[in-house]
Amino acid sequence: MIVPNKHYAELKDSYLFAHIAQKVSAYEQAHPGTRLLRMGIGDVSLPLCDVVITALHEAVEDQATKESFQGYLPECGAPFLRQTIADYYRTRGVSVMDEEVFVSSGASDELGDILDLFDQSNSALVIEPAYPAYVDANVIAGRRIVHVPSGSDEGFLPEPSEQAQADLIYLCSPNNPTGAAFNRAQLQRWVDFANEHGSIILFDAAYEAFIEDEDIPHSIMELDGAKTCAIEICSLSKTAGFTGTRLGYTIVPKDLVRAGMSLNDMWVRNRTTKTNGVSYVIQKGGAAVFTPEGQRQIHGMLRFYKDNARILMEALDRVGIWYCGGKNAPYLWLRCPGGMGSWEFFDYLLEEIQVVGTPGSGFGSCGEGYFRFSTFGSRADTLEAARRLTSLLSAEPKSRVPEQ
Ligand code: PLP
Repeated sequence: MIVPNKHYAELKDSYLFAHIAQKVSAYEQAHPGTRLLRMGIGDVSLPLCDVVITALHEAVEDQATKESFQGYLPECGAPFLRQTIADYYRTRGVSVMDEEVFVSSGASDELGDILDLFDQSNSALVIEPAYPAYVDANVIAGRRIVHVPSGSDEGFLPEPSEQAQADLIYLCSPNNPTGAAFNRAQLQRWVDFANEHGSIILFDAAYEAFIEDEDIPHSIMELDGAKTCAIEICSLSKTAGFTGTRLGYTIVPKDLVRAGMSLNDMWVRNRTTKTNGVSYVIQKGGAAVFTPEGQRQIHGMLRFYKDNARILMEALDRVGIWYCGGKNAPYLWLRCPGGMGSWEFFDYLLEEIQVVGTPGSGFGSCGEGYFRFSTFGSRADTLEAARRLTSLLSAEPKSRVPEQ
């Protein structure tokens, strides 16, 4: 008799984006022809850059002739791409071996699959507000979750604490949804804590390319002792617009050993069992991102999103709203004005100025009273949203209270 995984029944409904879509569609039906400004999207809007497109085309051509045709590639990644990514780390002063780099189809796949390395009895610490996959993947696996709430007093960057210990520790920096990023000293304290307790940090570096400040590490591997306590999961989705193309990479250090077992060896075994690797064409496209011209072109794209962030940050500064993020991340996390709740503010913006964002409470209960804007929209929409926000929120506080 089939016994389904009962833990699926323990998942909380992920109604956040469905509920937003429902409210927006109801508004559109009631107000046909209104220009809605969608500042909540987590997907990129710019196309792949030219060097990537050229590399993808060339790789397709390779598949057209007997001499250059590629069949199965090594499961852990094509040697050319593993080496390219290891070189990218070296240019930032981090020594990573090619065999420590695993090419993936994106961070989401890895965030779920990597849990195969750990026993069900291992607990997982999740700092909230959080990207929902961390909690859900562990609920499905039947693990105990240690929820660590964070708040504006600590800039949504909590310190490790003896009161909140777990075997696995999720850190996402720069963070989705808060946009906050650990500086070197803060991240070093997490690394030291993990080493002292034998924990393993699962470091989500999906937004590393957005970092501007010198003092913020792009990779946890930059820190002393990280190689004995951390796995880094990264993605080209936001870095280079690969959300629909799908490519990422994971660093599993050779020094990461628990109970005499090498996690790097285990991950090789896992990949060779569970995947046949990422497509040759996509890996060729990905390699182009790391060429000097690729880096120049993606930084042009990143600049575009960063300028959007600046436009929104200036608007929030003008109306005196507390926020974090925006500088080293494509998200702004703001405190709802007038003591409004997250959904209350969502409705208020939709009704009054037709701006759509993401209610913070959707990322964990401590996100209540906060709101997320993303900076992936068009320039025209961002400018117009900033204008509407400024005019609405600089009005008298009483006009901020939505009508019942
Ligand atoms: N991690 C974080 C924090 C994200 O915000 C996202 C996507 O939005 C992902 C991982 C997933 O990225 P990918 O597209 O590589 O699966």
